[in-house]
Amino acid sequence: MPKKKRKFKTEVQQLLDLVIHSLYSNPDIFLRELISNASDAIDRARFEALSNKNIQEPEGSWKIKIHADKDGKTLTLSDNGIGMTSEELEANIGTIANSGTRAFLDELSKGDAKNNPELIGQFGVGFYSAFMVADKVSVCTRRAGSESTATRWESTGNGAYTLEDIEKDTFGTDIILHLKEDQEKYLEEWTIREIVTKFSDYVAFPIVMDITREVPVEKKDEGDEASTETVSEVSEETLNSMKAIWTRTPSEVDKGDYGEFYKAQFKDYTEPAEIIHYRAEGTLEFNALLYIPAKAPYNMMYDREDHGVQLYVKRVFIMNNCQDLLPTYLRFMKGVVDSSDLPLNVSREILQEDLLIRKIRSNLVKRVLNTLKDMQEKEPDRYATFFREFGRVLKEGLHSDFENKEKLQDLLMFESSKTDAGAYTSLADYVNNMHPDQKAIYYISGESRATVESSPLLEAFQARKYDVLFLTDPVDEIVIPSVQTYREKPLEAVHQGEVNLDTEEEKEEKKEGREKAAEDFKDLTELLQSQLEEDVKEVRISERLTDSACCLVADKQGMDPYMERMMAAMGNAVPTTKRILEINPGHQLLPVMRELAQKGEEDARLKDFADLLYEQALIAEGSPPKDPANVARLISELMLVDGKQQLN
Ligand code: ADP
Repeated sequence: MPKKKRKFKTEVQQLLDLVIHSLYSNPDIFLRELISNASDAIDRARFEALSNKNIQEPEGSWKIKIHADKDGKTLTLSDNGIGMTSEELEANIGTIANSGTRAFLDELSKGDAKNNPELIGQFGVGFYSAFMVADKVSVCTRRAGSESTATRWESTGNGAYTLEDIEKDTFGTDIILHLKEDQEKYLEEWTIREIVTKFSDYVAFPIVMDITREVPVEKKDEGDEASTETVSEVSEETLNSMKAIWTRTPSEVDKGDYGEFYKAQFKDYTEPAEIIHYRAEGTLEFNALLYIPAKAPYNMMYDREDHGVQLYVKRVFIMNNCQDLLPTYLRFMKGVVDSSDLPLNVSREILQEDLLIRKIRSNLVKRVLNTLKDMQEKEPDRYATFFREFGRVLKEGLHSDFENKEKLQDLLMFESSKTDAGAYTSLADYVNNMHPDQKAIYYISGESRATVESSPLLEAFQARKYDVLFLTDPVDEIVIPSVQTYREKPLEAVHQGEVNLDTEEEKEEKKEGREKAAEDFKDLTELLQSQLEEDVKEVRISERLTDSACCLVADKQGMDPYMERMMAAMGNAVPTTKRILEINPGHQLLPVMRELAQKGEEDARLKDFADLLYEQALIAEGSPPKDPANVARLISELMLVDGKQQLN
């Protein structure tokens, strides 16, 4: 065939102009694109070799070779894969076949691309990306397994290309890039090495390069004087590790290899706590290798950007932190997802809307949650350790992932009045161990186990041996409202509304006593209410206290004090809602106060007592006292009175 000159299809030229003239955000990716094409070509050759005896593994194995010619200023990528006939060459490289490029051109036709040079970087453009760094590109190729001769395609990216027959001994494709003057860094060994390890480390075939090293040799002169000089030695070196363990069958992977890969890939010193490795097959095909780290990073609660798995397409690195593959509440997970159904040039913007990505994500989430459930059931101690590290983040899922709400509820763990400090119960265990008369799942919230554990609000529950969950994680306050009920049992705060644990009969039985108490203490309650009117909404007789003299409770709608303090700490203007002071008629202090009131004891003293009653209710629930100096003064006075009495 004589040398033929052809014109590019308009759309190709349009694309080329953009590649050449627009600022590309990352020109390095040309190498990724060409290596990926070469790897595909080898895959196809190996596949055809199964049924075509004329195709055989080349001597020296299947490989991709990079050669930098510093004098000629060319970079050549050679593969010994399938190659192309001249017809194929013309069809593949003269027109636009790939879908990513099409999407790009569609976008282009909307007129956005020209105003937005970054856009081109979002698509990537396969073979044409070579023109980002080269002002002339030659493709020399010979189709494997056929009689056809070799062809050279050549273009400066300027409207036209040429095709001609050439001599080529071996099957496969050489792509020769005549580098632009300002792109000569791509001739440097370390630049190439760096790009290959970043994007193509796990490509399944060796990517080799001739490395020239100066080696010292001893030389004996005529006068027998030894001297050293250096000579250049060229050796072929493989640049990529090829160890994509996620593509291997799980049963064949050594446990230690999983750990090594994790530590190297995700820069952790500790072994992962859990490994999830599987291959999805069927309508959805991908490999996933996920890890749960052993320890939470210090900034886990706030860092919502730097997370997500690494995305590969057919072993070619696409991006770190692909957030679209895992929801934020699983941001502690590390790992790799490799899909062969995605185009190489997929962008973050495309990913967000990609249906396939959404399906993969939903599949990954299910796997992770099932693994956790399994661990919770079979290895509770290990699960508790996991939950201590990552529970706070996992809980956020209750707010955002309605599809998996039930699974997430099952995975919750809480300390409770019946667990030892540091030990947990799940909601399922709580419900299974519930007293037959118990109607709800009860909880109390506060800063720490120590504050909630000694709260007077627990007395009635302890008297009945009911368990109360301790919500000591700030996130719980936000999470609980989204649970509301678990296995048809409502979740109720012990510090809200009128908790009455009595059965109907018990209520009936106690009715008389209660009415009597209300009557007996009517004057005192009214007095206290008027004296404390600045601080409380109401004073009433309590039905939940057994030991303490008093406690503060919120209205059914009221915000609980812990939440109020948290909001205030975060700098929010919190409307102070007055609460209800409940007093315990069974406590000895109450009749004494009543008698003092009846005796017409001076008002000042009674006011002091009322204040102390209110202050001790605050202290008991873990809130700071309203007037600490006054509390201290009153206690000293009372100690003095009591002390003197003891001495008499
Ligand atoms: P894509 O790889 O996304 O299809 P490209 O523009 O990179 O788009 O390549 C177009 C086509 O050219 C490929 O689909 C393939 O058929 C062919 N091709 C590119 N590089 C090679 C190669 N090294 N060996 C054989 N065929 C190739």
